[in-house]
Amino acid sequence: MKVGGQFCPGVLHAVSAKDGLLIRIRVPGGLIEADQLKAVAGLSRAFADGYLEITSRANLQLRGIQDRDLEPIVERIAMAGLLPSPQHDRVRNIVTSPIAGLDSEEVIDPRPLIHELDQQLREENAFVDLHPKFSFAIYGGTRRFSRSNDDISLEAVGLNAGPYFSFSIGGACSGFVVKRGDAVDCMLAAAKMCIRLAKESNLPVRGKAVVMAPGAMKLIVDALSHLLTPSPVSPPSRLVEEALIGIYPTTQNGRVSIIPSVPLGRLTAEQAIYLADAANEWKSDLRLSPWRGVVLGSIPKGASDNIVGPLHSMGLSCDGRDGFRGIAACAGSSGCEASLADVRGDAVSLAHRLLGHAVPSGWTVNFSGCEKQCAQRHGATAELIAGPLGYTLSIAGSPVASDCSPEFALDAVAALHQNLLSEVAVQ
Ligand code: SF4
Repeated sequence: MKVGGQFCPGVLHAVSAKDGLLIRIRVPGGLIEADQLKAVAGLSRAFADGYLEITSRANLQLRGIQDRDLEPIVERIAMAGLLPSPQHDRVRNIVTSPIAGLDSEEVIDPRPLIHELDQQLREENAFVDLHPKFSFAIYGGTRRFSRSNDDISLEAVGLNAGPYFSFSIGGACSGFVVKRGDAVDCMLAAAKMCIRLAKESNLPVRGKAVVMAPGAMKLIVDALSHLLTPSPVSPPSRLVEEALIGIYPTTQNGRVSIIPSVPLGRLTAEQAIYLADAANEWKSDLRLSPWRGVVLGSIPKGASDNIVGPLHSMGLSCDGRDGFRGIAACAGSSGCEASLADVRGDAVSLAHRLLGHAVPSGWTVNFSGCEKQCAQRHGATAELIAGPLGYTLSIAGSPVASDCSPEFALDAVAALHQNLLSEVAVQ
C-alpha cells in the first residue's frame, strides 16, 4: 500500500490531503451494485467525512480518512468486490453511458462489453502500470456523456451488417469500425500499441499524445487491421453537455429512470444508503455518471412518486431547479492545502442564489481554489479561479474580472444566469 505522496489516488494509493487521506475506488462503467454502494456509504460514515464523492469518470472517492483506519477500509472495500485485482487498483477508467441498456436511442447495450473489458484488463500484467488517467469508453449509441476525450473509445453505429463500433484514439476518429465480437480485443490491442509507441517516442502513455505523433494512427490501424474494417459512415458522436436530471422513460415497459441532482457530486452516506435500498426494493440498478451524479435505473413507474419525494427532502432534487445544475467545485480550503478560497462554500452560495430557476442551455460554472484548476471543464459558461487577492472570473473562456471578492463574482455569475434566461425567453 502506498500512502501520502503526490500520486493519483486509488484504494491502495492513499493520498494525503488537508482533511486526511483520500482514496479512489474503481467502478468500471459506473455500474455499481446497490450493496456495494451501501458498503462504501457505511465506510464513509464510520471512517471518512460522511460523503461519497463521484468523479468525472464515474468512480468513487472517500476523503477525511485517518491513517489508522486505512487497513480496515481496504479490507472492507475488497470484501465488497470493489478491489478485484490489487495490481490493477488504478487501471480503472472505463466509461459508458449512465443510461446504457435503458436508452431508446441506443444501437446496442454496451454493459456486457464493459464487464468483459474490465475482466480482461485485470487478467493482463501488461496493464498494471497503465497511466491512472488512461480511459477507455464504450458507448452503445449516438450520445457521449463524457466531456473529455477518452484515450481509446468505441461508439456504436448501426450498419446493415449489424452493430459495429467506430474506433477512436485520443478523440481522433480512426476512420475504421470494429464488430462487436472483436471490440474488446481491439481496445486491448490498441492500448498495448499506445504503451509501445509512447515508450519508443518518450511520450506520456495517453491516447492523445500518442496519436499526435506523425504516422502513429496509421501504425496502430495497421497493427489492428485484422480486427478493423474501413468505416462507410462518419462517427455518430453527439456530446451531451448537460447532466440529465428528472424522470426519464426507459426501453423497459412500465419502468422509468430517476436521475436526481447530486450537489457538487457529493452524496451523503444517508443519501447513498437510501438510493441503494430503493434499488434493492424495486429491483432497479444503480449507475454513477460522468456528470458526477447517480442514476436509479429501471424503477416501476408507479413507484417513482414514492421515491422522488423522499429524495427531494434529503437534498437530491429531481426538478433541475435546486441551483446546483452545472456547478462544479474542487475540494477547496476544507480539503486542499493549496486552496486560496472556500470554493465549495462559494459554489453552495451561488446555488442558493439560483434556487428555483431553470437553467440556461449548456450552463456550466467551475470553481477552482487555485491555478491548477482541478474543477476545470472545457467550454464552461463561467470559470472562477481563486488567487491570493480574490477570484479571476472568465466568461465563455475570456477573463472579465480579476481579484474580485466572492460576493462580486457570485453577483456577476448570477446576473449572467439571469441574462441568459431572459435571452431564451425573448427568442
Ligand atoms: S484546484 Fe488547487 S485548490 Fe483546488 S483541489 Fe486542485 S490543487 Fe487544490
